[in-house]
Amino acid sequence: MVDMARWGPMLAAAGIRVTNQRLLVLDVLAAHRLPVSAQRVHTELQDRGEHTGLTTVYRALASMAEAGIVHAFTHMGEAVYRLCGPARHHHLVCRVCGMVAERQENDVVDGFRAEEVYGVCATCEER
Ligand SMILES: [Zn+2]
Ligand SMILES: [Zn+2]
Repeated sequence: MVDMARWGPMLAAAGIRVTNQRLLVLDVLAAHRLPVSAQRVHTELQDRGEHTGLTTVYRALASMAEAGIVHAFTHMGEAVYRLCGPARHHHLVCRVCGMVAERQENDVVDGFRAEEVYGVCATCEER
């Protein structure tokens, strides 16, 4: 059910242990374009019949965020997570819907490297 061949090498390359929980969490994140909360990941795992605890989901997300595979954002005061592409990038984040786009230019302004840039996405702008 979980795509081991896809996520296993990714965890290994990031230098963290391949565990079933991490693989499951990655599999859920990969199905979402928008960043999702730990609660949402947990609910979807329950729906799949996986009895992974919420604390385990939090820990898996935190370790993968630390390893740089997953990026953590704050949307409406809630921590949300997104599976990131392998290339070095920063994020354009819509403050209305939480949509994230990866931007691969490595802008450094006055010694600052951008991690997140907030704005309004095209879809929200049209509303
Ligand atoms: Zn990212
Ligand atoms: Zn938006």
